[in-house]
Amino acid sequence: MSLLNLQIDPDRLHRRIAALAEVGAIEGGGCARLALTDADRAGRDLVCGWMRELGLAVTVDAIGNVVGVRAGRVDGPPVMTGSHIDTVRTGGRYDGNYGVLAGLEVVAALNDAGVTTEHPLAVAFFTNEEGARFAPDMMGSLVYTGVLALDEALAVQGIDGATVGGELARIGYAGPAPVPGAVPRAFVELHVEQGPVLDREGTEIGVVESVQGISWTEIDIRGTSNHAGTTPMSLRRDAGWAAGSIIAFVRELAQELGGDQVATVGRIEFFPNLVNVVPNRAVLTVDLRNTDEARLRLAEARLAAHLDALRDAEKVDIATRKLARFAPVPFAPEMTARIERHARAQGLSTRRMPSGAGHDAQMLAAVCPTAMIFVPSVDGISHNVREYTRPHHIEAGARVLLAVLGELAGATEPAGERKP
Ligand SMILES: [Zn+2]
Repeated sequence: MSLLNLQIDPDRLHRRIAALAEVGAIEGGGCARLALTDADRAGRDLVCGWMRELGLAVTVDAIGNVVGVRAGRVDGPPVMTGSHIDTVRTGGRYDGNYGVLAGLEVVAALNDAGVTTEHPLAVAFFTNEEGARFAPDMMGSLVYTGVLALDEALAVQGIDGATVGGELARIGYAGPAPVPGAVPRAFVELHVEQGPVLDREGTEIGVVESVQGISWTEIDIRGTSNHAGTTPMSLRRDAGWAAGSIIAFVRELAQELGGDQVATVGRIEFFPNLVNVVPNRAVLTVDLRNTDEARLRLAEARLAAHLDALRDAEKVDIATRKLARFAPVPFAPEMTARIERHARAQGLSTRRMPSGAGHDAQMLAAVCPTAMIFVPSVDGISHNVREYTRPHHIEAGARVLLAVLGELAGATEPAGERKP
């Protein structure tokens, strides 16, 4: 199917990104628009104004998610794109914002060309994706898809003591649209990678096949404190050594399992933490991630077996506590294939990849065919005012989004202007 002469206007897209970045602007070119603050309200007002200017029918739901719908020739569920416009306190100007504003640029391109799509097209931004003020993150999309109950979300207290419900009402974004929200026909989220892979490889478009599963474990090891000089090695119950062995083990485990497996010990404490005392206690965390649930379970089992071996070898006691566990979320193969096909048709280099970070799309994936498009982040920097994506990559991602959404929504030529 021909997508006519649909074209994005790069300057318009860059202007909108720059204008939204002015709201809650911080030193260095970044943004601080924590969810449901006055700055978030100002950002929301700006984007809602643009949605209305573009002729979208804007609705706000009970958790403050905003959906702007462009009518199609038939009623029914829209093809949806979107992301979030809240930021962390040291946020960049692209994370989330880019996906929403590129969605508006797609609408503008359709408007410019006078094209009516078969199905409605929706651009959404979801409340509190970042989770920097209120936990959990991805709150708006969790409520939209019915995974998190509205009452539970509204009662959440933030780091400053305010509640989600109170702040939504205060900023005027406790809307009347019901949740869970209407299930879209399909969902596509365009986002900056926030990691170094595309930038390092010089690849232009990331075709995101899945969001990694996460397994966080806290490990508490108890041994015996003793004199570092007088205690023979054979008689030690050294919690510190056991902890060190775990650090080395998870690195080897990730290398051995290969594929997308990553493993990190990010926090460790020794007790009593003195130069000449064998530690009687060590507490550390292990972060395991994989895109494949079976492989992630295998990694967890291998870690558990290693802890058993340590108990025997060093006669230490080891207790474990799960801090977080999310299964991987695979995206729809027909959606990733579509993204890849359009990117290549535009002469762009592509790479299939998982997302290491969580995104609203992983919630939408539970209810409709979903995938994500990544563009390079220079040096992989994000959640930082130095976050940067080069203009031609911003434009390339928007062009792929336009082609994918246009096809999904069934873009057709304006009546009376059919070309031979
Ligand atoms: Zn984001």
